[in-house]
Amino acid sequence: DTFADIDLGDALNLNIRRCKYVKPTPVQRYTIPISLAGRDLMACAQTGSGKTAAFCFPIISGIMRAQSVQKPRGTRTIHTEAQKFAYQTGVKVVVVYGGAPISQQLRELERGVDILVATPGRLVDMLERAKVSLQMIRYLALDEADRMLDMGFEPQIRKIRLASDFLSNYIFLTVGRVGSSTDLILQRVELVQEERE
Ligand code: AMP
Repeated sequence: DTFADIDLGDALNLNIRRCKYVKPTPVQRYTIPISLAGRDLMACAQTGSGKTAAFCFPIISGIMRAQSVQKPRGTRTIHTEAQKFAYQTGVKVVVVYGGAPISQQLRELERGVDILVATPGRLVDMLERAKVSLQMIRYLALDEADRMLDMGFEPQIRKIRLASDFLSNYIFLTVGRVGSSTDLILQRVELVQEERE
């Protein structure tokens, strides 16, 4: 029965600790979980009962949640899977994606990486800043290449392909659905190949 048991988001929980609030007051204890669940409520409590915090905390928490960048779904799945299967193999997996501060991701990369899971835009950004080199990569997997093209990532895919060592690596390309887009992708891969030669 303390604020530490209520997940309002790390930054807000820290601020609450800084204010030396340890236990929620009754109005807070009853209303905060309802507000966090997104339900409407009407509370009746006297001045001095902690009403202000009762409605401020869930509001701040909700805004923080909406602002926090979600790792793009596909990227998150790949990262989770790769990490799960690389567990205790000595293969280090790092994920980088746009919308989140690049500095933290770069610091993590500096500690070394074997498998880099990346969204195309963020990877190109890192290539252009010369923070990442694909010269030595051995495996390049382009997952859901058709969707990446649909989303307009063709320029990024080309840059990634051109930045990677063409002769020594192995490309793995997956498409979400087989059909006309598969041919299109194969054609484009060949195009990139020609561009490189
Ligand atoms: P209020 O009812 O919102 O006017 O708040 C009354 C006072 O109690 C304010 O000075 C708050 O800073 C303080 N307060 C609110 N919640 C807590 C809490 N959980 N623990 C300690 N003090 C609190």
